[in-house]
Amino acid sequence: MGVQGDNVLVSEVKLERMLSMKGGNGKSSYANNSQAQARHAQSMLHLLKETLDRVELHTPETPFVVADLGCSCGGNTIYIIDVIIEHMTKRYEGLGYEPPEFSAFFSDLPSNDFNTLFQLLPPLAINGGSMEECLAADGQRSYFAAGVPGSFYRRLFPERSIDVFHSAFSLHWLSQVPESVMDKRSTAYNKGRVFIHGAAEITALAYKKQFQTDLARFLKSRSHEMKKGGSMFLVCLGRTSADPTDQSGAGLLFGTHFQDAWEDLVQEGLVDGEKRDSFNIPVFAPSLQDFKEIVEADGSFTINKLEVFQGGSPLVVNQPDDPAEVGRALANSCRSVCGVLVDAHIGDQLSDELFARLEVRGTKNAKELLEQLQFFHIVASLSLA
Ligand code: SAH
Repeated sequence: MGVQGDNVLVSEVKLERMLSMKGGNGKSSYANNSQAQARHAQSMLHLLKETLDRVELHTPETPFVVADLGCSCGGNTIYIIDVIIEHMTKRYEGLGYEPPEFSAFFSDLPSNDFNTLFQLLPPLAINGGSMEECLAADGQRSYFAAGVPGSFYRRLFPERSIDVFHSAFSLHWLSQVPESVMDKRSTAYNKGRVFIHGAAEITALAYKKQFQTDLARFLKSRSHEMKKGGSMFLVCLGRTSADPTDQSGAGLLFGTHFQDAWEDLVQEGLVDGEKRDSFNIPVFAPSLQDFKEIVEADGSFTINKLEVFQGGSPLVVNQPDDPAEVGRALANSCRSVCGVLVDAHIGDQLSDELFARLEVRGTKNAKELLEQLQFFHIVASLSLA
């Protein structure tokens, strides 16, 4: 059961304790609704590999350490860690060196469903066999694994301990909804909405400021933790417009049918208007310029590559002509990422009502959704300055 009630998502500590993608293996779980992220990640593998080619190799006595930040609880993180370790092993072998042992940290907020993730991990195949044998053995794991609970907006690892940082589809999650957006007396109060898409400029600017503070804290923390010669590959939702009230794909996901479904509940008298107003999705899709300014102002990292990448639709459907399937895909994928927050705000039963209305709206607008709902990602490859 989700918490019934009056959780206001304002403070960083509250959000950190609560935020997670939907755990387990149910129909709206993240594990079963992250195929789109998997596809988008696969289309960017060449950029990840370019980043990995920059990493300095070291002697085999010390382990090579990889960390995935915002790993969540699906198979995507395991796939990416495999890609990274396989690529690095080939680099060592290509130069005639013996590869070191590999260690991978899966990191996310404490409420992440680490149990589901750990159960997906293949068995370790290191003892006795050579690294080549391990890599050749299908369905086996060639690295030591550990989970690291905590916010990536703070320190997570010892000084100079990580060779490669990877983070996909996570950094658009803010550490908190800005206080002014939650304050009824403030002009940034987000009345009638649950996201900044199409909101007042001052509201979107409060989100942008929060993103600046958060990303700067992320970079500072990683700058302590990365080994000299290490590299970082970051992907987060981005937008193509300079205007932060136009949130591109994230805007269409949270600021149109989802927001209208909230309005349905208000109109039907199931949710009080103010209760809805006090719910805000803590996501900000930056523009390339937003992202660049923060990295440059921080100064800890040099930018090897920074681009906006068209990822495609977040909806994966077998029958695009079936509007009901499109509606279901919209409701499930939305619930898999923000359902936990909705449950905490209005309770499980009203949450069921909300996502049922979202499904109806998605079904009615299936054709337009498939055509227009496109995600853009900011992709960054960074090394220590
Ligand atoms: N990287 C995965 C999952 C992305 S979902 C994939 O590619 O499929 C985004 C994840 O970011 C969620 O699991 C969420 O809990 C995590 N996240 C959001 N804010 C975070 C924070 N401050 N610190 C650590 N993880 C965070």
